Amino acid sequence: MAIREIITKGNELLDKKCHKVTVFDRRMWTLLDDMKETLKDSGGVGLAAPQIGIMRRVFIMDDGEQIWEFINPEIIEASDYHEVPEGCLSVPGVQGMVSRPNYVRIRGMSRDSEPFVAEFTGLMAQCAQHENDHLDGILFDSKICGPIPEED
Ligand code: ZN
Repeated sequence: MAIREIITKGNELLDKKCHKVTVFDRRMWTLLDDMKETLKDSGGVGLAAPQIGIMRRVFIMDDGEQIWEFINPEIIEASDYHEVPEGCLSVPGVQGMVSRPNYVRIRGMSRDSEPFVAEFTGLMAQCAQHENDHLDGILFDSKICGPIPEED
């Protein structure tokens, strides 16, 4: 496994749509393992393949107990939208409020090309939508609707 470099806004790869995964081979498993190590190292909650310059429809999320792997994900239901504070490893120094679903249902494939469906709420639902956006070349800062309210 290896920690890969996370690319940042300005790199045109982050603005492009990713391709579906069609081959589930050792190379793809290495990609997933490297993404896991890179995510752990970054301290983030989620990471999408284009963030390390790999233009494939793959993202991972860390719910604190396990790391979820999504290959060719599709959000089949998203509801209960609310405004939540957000940032991105590829857009350093920027944070803002973004409207995100508090509930999502996602279809995806495992590293063994087994299809599955998973449901998430709260931060994981927000993260899933954020990472899925990366696969379509969408960065969160284009969705910022306001500054994060200051606490006092
Ligand atoms: Zn991001």
